[in-house]
Amino acid sequence: MDSYFNESILKRAQRAKLVNINTHDLRAFTADKHRKVDDSPYGGGPGMVFMIEPLYKCLKAIRRKKKSRIILLDPAGRQFNQKTAARFSKLDQLIFICGRYEGVDARIDKYIDEKISIGPYVLSGGELATAVIIEATARLLPGVLGKMESLQYETFNGEKSDVVEYPQYTRPETFKGQKVPKVLLSGNHAEIEKWRRNKKK
Ligand code: SAH
Repeated sequence: MDSYFNESILKRAQRAKLVNINTHDLRAFTADKHRKVDDSPYGGGPGMVFMIEPLYKCLKAIRRKKKSRIILLDPAGRQFNQKTAARFSKLDQLIFICGRYEGVDARIDKYIDEKISIGPYVLSGGELATAVIIEATARLLPGVLGKMESLQYETFNGEKSDVVEYPQYTRPETFKGQKVPKVLLSGNHAEIEKWRRNKKK
């Protein structure tokens, strides 16, 4: 997971001190010799459940910023979307709890602010889901995207929140018989604008 955050845009953003990403090892918050973080569920059933104690201790140990939220990754949580990313991008700190195994001891509910899912399917852990949320959120922070990348005309960022970006073309003008739409080569900006608006879904 750490290595993922050390690539491209997120790496640049961290270097420029625009975002700060830390991971916490729950095993560091255990007291027993085996550094146990999971146990079998009360009442029986398959798999293991994340124990509440190491999680609680870890949360306590994190220095909280003013506008901070604790998020539990949960396939049954509220589905993440561009609006959530925009809301998160206005906060000072996001703390993600990544589940594993069968999930997390339900008593965690008292210590979290919300449950978020990245989609209606089940992953093996919350790490990928967290990476998705961090990436979608961080690129909305001022200065994170370079001049070469722009948010302004992006899908989901238009006046209607669900507009899809218009189709884009670059060189060559013809590729295996497929031509770039003529209007884009016309230099007529009003016409180009009109074409692009019509192409949005
Ligand atoms: N038995 C659980 C699934 C646990 S999956 C159930 O049926 O709900 C293990 C962990 O992966 C979860 O605790 C959660 O943190 C993470 N996870 C799995 N799918 C996810 C999704 N779609 N979105 C966000 N987190 C997910």
